[in-house]
Amino acid sequence: MSKRDYYEVLEITRTASAEEIKKAYRKMALKHHPDKNPGDKTAEEKFKEAAEAYEVLSDGNKKARYDQYGHAGLGGAAGGFGGGGFGGGMNMEDIFSQFGDIFGGHFGGGGFGGGSQRQQLRGSNLRVRIKLNLEEMVNGTQKTIKVKKMKLAPGATAKTCSTCGGSGVQMKVMNTMFGQMQTQTQCGTCGGAGKIADKIPAGANSQGLIKEDEEVTINIPAGAREGIQLNVRGKGNDAPFGGNPGDLLVVVEEEVDATIKREGDNLHQELYVSFAEAALGTQKEIPTVGGKVKIKVDAGTQSGKILRLSGKGLPSIDNYGKGDMFVHINVWTPQRLSQEQKEFFEKQIANGEMMAEPSGKEKTFFDKVRDLFN
Ligand SMILES: [Zn+2]
Repeated sequence: MSKRDYYEVLEITRTASAEEIKKAYRKMALKHHPDKNPGDKTAEEKFKEAAEAYEVLSDGNKKARYDQYGHAGLGGAAGGFGGGGFGGGMNMEDIFSQFGDIFGGHFGGGGFGGGSQRQQLRGSNLRVRIKLNLEEMVNGTQKTIKVKKMKLAPGATAKTCSTCGGSGVQMKVMNTMFGQMQTQTQCGTCGGAGKIADKIPAGANSQGLIKEDEEVTINIPAGAREGIQLNVRGKGNDAPFGGNPGDLLVVVEEEVDATIKREGDNLHQELYVSFAEAALGTQKEIPTVGGKVKIKVDAGTQSGKILRLSGKGLPSIDNYGKGDMFVHINVWTPQRLSQEQKEFFEKQIANGEMMAEPSGKEKTFFDKVRDLFN
């Protein structure tokens, strides 16, 4: 397996400063983060590759060796680098523990290391989808949903792992060119937890976990959007024995609105007015995400006119300004006429009244579309 150049991996030059290296890694890690690319093996590999590159380039010593000798300057025979346990690249726990100083604890995965060598096993994350209408997305809301999650079954007990004595690690002695070296590996019996199941109640799995419904109340902040993922800490699956539960990842979906259509930050709706209302002018009440508002339809309004309600769209995602609401006016031609109405209209036609009189200044459909984007 040929390794890619670490600078190439982070897409930086060899003269990049420590700050630039950090920034580049942050960008790569966010892009290829497994939470963002579920099930994508290539993304996971790139994520690991970036973490390994950062591990080396952020360490003055390793960077100097790498700059002078390349990959060969870092590796022992195992092809790994530096301290024990890395073998064929870093594992996910190593990468997440590295996140602390980069992301300020923004990502989950905390709880590893920290004084004792024993790894706190963390419960797995749960992912749910939640449907929000436009008003809820704009103003924020609170939703209570039922989730099926793995919980530690009542009566499940654990005992200390006899293989590692509860430390979660096993020591291995290796012969190297520097003499004998001790390295630590995760305990194969307990998987690093330091404990194994003792009593498992009926219905629970081998880790003492059982599937149960739980109601979770989620606070949706104002300005949520389709595809946004909210992270509710500690509301995911329980960890087998005493570890921290995983997170509940809530993915926002937009409920399709029958009346109002969204286009970026702008909103659109159709408004039907009768032939008489269009001729005489009228006031109409229309829905917006901020509640109903009254709008004025001028006398002589033509079908196809678009009214723009400034700032009645969605707040932009970067909190800079607001979109607009566009009201598309449709003049409804009467489909059933009484005898009296019929005679009235026939008289208008016979006298050449109420005829279409385009002045040539009317905006065509294409003009209107172009105006929307200016
Ligand atoms: Zn063990």
